[in-house]
Amino acid sequence: MTSAHVFHRFTSARPPIATHGEGIYLFDAEGRRYVDACGGAAVSCLGHAHPEIAAAVAEQVAKLEYVHTGFFTSEAAEELADTMAEMSPGLERVWFTGSGSEAIEAALKLARQYHLERGDIGRSRVITRRQSYHGNTLGALAAGGSVWRRAPYEPLLIEVPEIDTCFEYRFAEPGETAEAYGRRAAQALDDEIVRLGPDTVIAFLAETIVGATAGAVPPAGDYLRQVRETCDRHGVLLILDEVMCGSGRTGTFLACEQYGVVPDILTLGKGLGAGYQPIGAVMCTSEVYDAVASGSGALKHGQTYNAHPVGCAAGLAVQRVIRRDRLLKRVCEAGEQLSNLLEARFANHPNVGDIRGVGLLRAIELVKDRATKAPFDPALALHQRAKEDAFERGLLIYPGGGTIDGRSGDHILLAPPYHVTDGELELIVDLLAKTLDSILPS
Ligand code: PMP
Repeated sequence: MTSAHVFHRFTSARPPIATHGEGIYLFDAEGRRYVDACGGAAVSCLGHAHPEIAAAVAEQVAKLEYVHTGFFTSEAAEELADTMAEMSPGLERVWFTGSGSEAIEAALKLARQYHLERGDIGRSRVITRRQSYHGNTLGALAAGGSVWRRAPYEPLLIEVPEIDTCFEYRFAEPGETAEAYGRRAAQALDDEIVRLGPDTVIAFLAETIVGATAGAVPPAGDYLRQVRETCDRHGVLLILDEVMCGSGRTGTFLACEQYGVVPDILTLGKGLGAGYQPIGAVMCTSEVYDAVASGSGALKHGQTYNAHPVGCAAGLAVQRVIRRDRLLKRVCEAGEQLSNLLEARFANHPNVGDIRGVGLLRAIELVKDRATKAPFDPALALHQRAKEDAFERGLLIYPGGGTIDGRSGDHILLAPPYHVTDGELELIVDLLAKTLDSILPS
């Protein structure tokens, strides 16, 4: 039964009703089966209907469904924060939110307050990157560089200085090494801080690995370490957004661990609750926390569902399963396997320009011409056609379109669950190949 009253995002289409899930599969009311190769938007890292997570959620609801953080904390929140801090060298404190966008909002406010608490009151700007996504609330949207998401709301958005994102496939010069390009991309941050005046800059905000807007783009060379040094030199905080790439998706709890960098503030979401409950988090160093604790003594921020006990219980159960089943190791192995399958199938494909990613966050970029890297005409909306064709075949993939000066192509993002089997990976790549055969102009 469909209703006439639900405000669906795409008003011209009624999505099928999903009735249940099992592992990597989702089922709809017509009995059709879908291979969920992207976990929605890189959310379902333990697949669907995991009995242990469902049981932990049910137990928490029955025991303590809600407390307001103005009155109480909960065992689930305390234990999850301990678990996360133990897994995140250098990040000692955790603030729980209900989503990724809320985590970004809290992170931006915390960064500003950190400077205020220290009497550094002239810092008012956050530098962000073009072709980035940090959420859809107005503050987070202002901080992101997704052109089409921003366009209708520009008058409502605060002005945020932007630098180019670090995107080797698109922006390295021919013959430029990853190291040289990474250095050049990081230099853009230094230049922008100097241009604005270092005393005016609160923080630099970036995704450790770019997700939705560019498709699993890792930092080139020593980029992250260099931007860390630049921030330190200017007293600017480094905020890494790991809402999509964190929580184990790259094979380490935090993606920044792969690059030996500790930010001052970091955001999580999506895989933290694996979709069993909405939960996000802001993690920060003791230094950031202590500035607030020894200053005014309160973060001037708060929302009704902060540190929701059921969200925290889900997050805790997710971490228990990941540890017990050694799933971070599986993410590394399965990530290699997926990369090999994509290479074997598409490395010589005339319209696949790049195959990239880390762990189980992988993408392919579609191009009209491999030699020139020219993208397809955006009017073709090939990424959307790929999503629709794959959906018809029973495969869920996460599409993204070019947004930078026409220089970036359509991409398809894959983010299967951490316990994905080799056979399921083969099925995903087989179905994806059929979709490309069907949508690409031959
Ligand atoms: N940051 C990043 C990197 C994201 O990918 C997203 C969601 N796609 C967000 C923030 C916002 O998270 P949410 O949709 O949970 O508000």
